[in-house]
Amino acid sequence: MKTCIVIGAGIAGAATAFELAEAGLDVLVLESKEVCGGGSAAAGAFLSPKISKPSAYKTYLNTALAYSLAFYAKHFPSLLQKGGLLKLPLDDVDRKRLESYEPYIDFPWEKRQNGYFFPDAGIIAPDRLCRALLAHKRIKLRKHHTRTLTFQNDRWIVDNLYDAKYLVLATGTDDEPLPLPYLRTKRIGGYRYDIRFDDDRQLSHNIHKEVSLSLFNENRVILGATHIREKIDLHEAAKGDRYCLVERAQIFYPMQNLKILRHYLGYRRFTFDYFPIVGEAVDARATLEVYPYIRTGAKVPHEKYRYFKGLYLHTALGSRGFVFAPWNARLLRSHILKQKAIPHPLLPATRFMKWARQQSR
Ligand SMILES: Cc1cc2nc3c(=O)[nH]c(=O)nc-3n(C[C@H](O)[C@H](O)[C@H](O)COP(=O)(O)OP(=O)(O)OC[C@H]3O[C@@H](n4cnc5c(N)ncnc54)[C@H](O)[C@@H]3O)c2cc1C
Repeated sequence: MKTCIVIGAGIAGAATAFELAEAGLDVLVLESKEVCGGGSAAAGAFLSPKISKPSAYKTYLNTALAYSLAFYAKHFPSLLQKGGLLKLPLDDVDRKRLESYEPYIDFPWEKRQNGYFFPDAGIIAPDRLCRALLAHKRIKLRKHHTRTLTFQNDRWIVDNLYDAKYLVLATGTDDEPLPLPYLRTKRIGGYRYDIRFDDDRQLSHNIHKEVSLSLFNENRVILGATHIREKIDLHEAAKGDRYCLVERAQIFYPMQNLKILRHYLGYRRFTFDYFPIVGEAVDARATLEVYPYIRTGAKVPHEKYRYFKGLYLHTALGSRGFVFAPWNARLLRSHILKQKAIPHPLLPATRFMKWARQQSR
């Protein structure tokens, strides 16, 4: 029987476990804290497209968004609120910039006020979604902090307790429990609020200008989120609204008697080009032993690299974890079980190559 262990029960781990379980694998998910207890707990989670000039990243993002919206609507319709998003320009310069991108908008849209309305955009409930994904009958969940991984007889062994043919690391901002020096990422903190206020305008969509506001939940409105690069106490920052989320939202959507019901905080992990990391993990030491001249720029095809066989990564989802994860999980499932190629920018091998070439400097 084919089995898989997924480490981490945030959206990356939960979506991966679900896909592999759907494909018929028995999946064990190991989580050191709680389901959706890492960065995923802080997410809004807004599902919105990118407006920009054409780029590989934009194509990837909007493809992932279309897939994820359809995935949520199919499997978890009660958790998805699809009321649309109104994206407003920041100022005149931004308005002109957005206008120049109009020919490249590849998501259904219409002009509204001086912004862009995307009727298909939405929001999803992060915690309930992760739990619903993990409720699949082929998935087992255990509270366990993974410390060591060993590979024996074609199986991955976790802390001498659990073993499986495949292993997926979806550990968010925590380091992977084995050396992967080429995963160069940064960690950005943030907070967001659940708020309530008096309103008779009866709007039912999201609005984004500098910050995002969801207006289609009767009981609470979600206001998010900050991008904090400094090393500060996030809890204190959220308590005092150090980054003026409320003030910035009031500018484009004035709210009477606003009350903050709760704050959420967490960290997201980014790569420097914003593409997530998805695919089989390269064994850097073994590859450089066989092909030391990769360091000086020699071209060695990815297929020749040495891999940690059966060990995969799904991480660095940045600020769009709930947009990317279902699509990445689908790519990973097709790759693991049908050897379908994963797009190059996502691959650990691409990260390894860039890192290795800098080792000789
Ligand atoms: C303030 C804020 C607002 C955001 N808003 C949005 C939004 O509107 N839309 C959107 O799409 N995204 C949003 N994001 C981004 C999104 O939350 C992240 O991209 C996503 O949650 C990352 O998911 P993950 O599963 O990779 O990591 P995490 O959610 O951090 O999950 C990783 C899990 O792995 C576990 N783990 C780590 N190491 C081990 C180990 N050794 N053993 C066992 N378990 C381990 C951790 O305990 C954790 O639960 C936001 C993020 C923040 C911080």
